[in-house]
Amino acid sequence: MIFYLDNGHGRHQAGKRSLPFLYEDREVVFEEWRFNRNVVAGIIALNNASPAPLDIVHVSPQPEDLGQWLGGRVAVANSDMIRRQVPVGEALFISVHANSVGLRWDDPSGFEAWHCKGSSLSEYYAGVFANNLPGELGLRNRGVKASSDMYVLVNTHMPAVLLELGFYSNLAEVKRLYSHDFQQQAAGRIYATMRYLDEMAGKAPV
Ligand SMILES: [Zn+2]
Repeated sequence: MIFYLDNGHGRHQAGKRSLPFLYEDREVVFEEWRFNRNVVAGIIALNNASPAPLDIVHVSPQPEDLGQWLGGRVAVANSDMIRRQVPVGEALFISVHANSVGLRWDDPSGFEAWHCKGSSLSEYYAGVFANNLPGELGLRNRGVKASSDMYVLVNTHMPAVLLELGFYSNLAEVKRLYSHDFQQQAAGRIYATMRYLDEMAGKAPV
């Protein structure tokens, strides 16, 4: 199986950001692209250390570059899939994000796995992530959600999931997201789930 791994945002389309908060006596504003970048870097590091690495294409390897826009990242995945003639059932696009209700502190918290509305294979993959991640990471499971307009879900030619790993707008949760430990745990759980999907490739019940 081939995995197309996406940071979700770069410095110039930074995604969500938190209000200022205190972390170990320092005031911090945490931008989503930094979280996504660190988690994806953790996944790549785990894979590089594996004796049997997965086939991972990092579609946003330079998240601080201006060039890493949504369309560019999707095009990297789509053109690689065509070039290598990868069957649809053997490719998965994974976009790593964190969530927010806006620039205010509020209660909503937890994990969501999004897929393109109408793609049963993507829905299956989203379900596997929803079963594997939130419990282990101590996040509330908000479940699997369908979208008909999220760019990377609609425009990728392969099954795709978008993972929202907690809320920037929840003070307790953003403090966890900010911590190196949590970022490493999230990378570990996503990577373990990718290894499981790789083993199960071709056996998805849809
Ligand atoms: Zn995002």
